[in-house]
Amino acid sequence: MIKTISKKQFVKIVLISLAVLSVIAVSLLMAFPYRLNRQSYGAFTEDSANSVILLIGDGMGFNHIEAASYFGQPVMTSIENKSSITTRSTLPIWPTDSAAAATAIATGKKVFNGRIAWSNGKNLKSLGDVAVENGKKLGVITTKPVTDATPAAFTAHNKSRRNQKEIALEQINNHGIDLLIGQGKEYFENYAQLIINDKRDYVTSFEDLLQSQKEKVYAIFDEDIPCEGQFTLAALTSYALDKLQCEDGFFLMVEGAKIDTYSHDNDMDNMLEQFWGFDDAVSAALDYAKDNPHVTVIVTADHETGRLDLPKKMDRDTINDDCFNGGGHTNREVPFFIFGPGAQDVPEKMDNTDIFRLICQLLF
Ligand SMILES: [Zn+2]
Repeated sequence: MIKTISKKQFVKIVLISLAVLSVIAVSLLMAFPYRLNRQSYGAFTEDSANSVILLIGDGMGFNHIEAASYFGQPVMTSIENKSSITTRSTLPIWPTDSAAAATAIATGKKVFNGRIAWSNGKNLKSLGDVAVENGKKLGVITTKPVTDATPAAFTAHNKSRRNQKEIALEQINNHGIDLLIGQGKEYFENYAQLIINDKRDYVTSFEDLLQSQKEKVYAIFDEDIPCEGQFTLAALTSYALDKLQCEDGFFLMVEGAKIDTYSHDNDMDNMLEQFWGFDDAVSAALDYAKDNPHVTVIVTADHETGRLDLPKKMDRDTINDDCFNGGGHTNREVPFFIFGPGAQDVPEKMDNTDIFRLICQLLF
């Protein structure tokens, strides 16, 4: 028996169907977010880059820069060419972690959170691997342990970011690394003899790093890398650029790791201090690139941390811990600045996996 439905029932059915369809559509979009922004880099005309300095502010969203900008102009914002980066990992229901984001940047592949340049039982080739294969020098600097997710994705491969000992051992056995600088002494001190050879040194202080005469150095500090004074991220960046300079070029990754740490803590003052420490490193990289026209500088973030929102009326009192609206990572897009060869061709929007393709196109 065919039963006619009332107008009210009809509207209800249409509304429910629309709701179901939009949920499916949104899920599909979330599952394949990077398809939306996939760009072809065939348009790249510059081929004059032979080195890249990639600076990653861990957790640094647009509003982190905006908050700092109230107190003075960050050097990174003086870079003319910029873009906005999507950051989701393979499972887009929750935001990416630093492992999946660094893997996306380092390998051009989306992976599940926690993976270090690794997916489905296989090691993924990273920018670190490609740099070494192509005869480039490779340097990695971070303000946290070198075995942490971001530096690890450029120098090791592992199923889990938690396997810090295994990551350290892979880094020790990776003789392609020219400079590895950061914390994590506990994972390296027992292997000093494995690290040291004719070409490679192992030091644990900034003074010893400056003294080292060897071609390759693992500088694994026990103490914090301060934001001011002699021994800063900027000083280490300048040191690395001096050391890596060579005819065939280099790839250097510099991470301001604690912007994320203090954003998790919703600690505005310390976050800003770390931001400025990172911005000083950007300044050192830009100074170097201005004297060396074959060097491209890229400044970006792996994800936003802390859901930072700023008041309409900003002043010293209103830029405070309460501007953070969460203690975790978010899916917000993150900033991207590029200076040097290749900068002109960068589209307004990119996905984090595009950074890998862009650097490959510039360097290899
Ligand atoms: Zn984090």
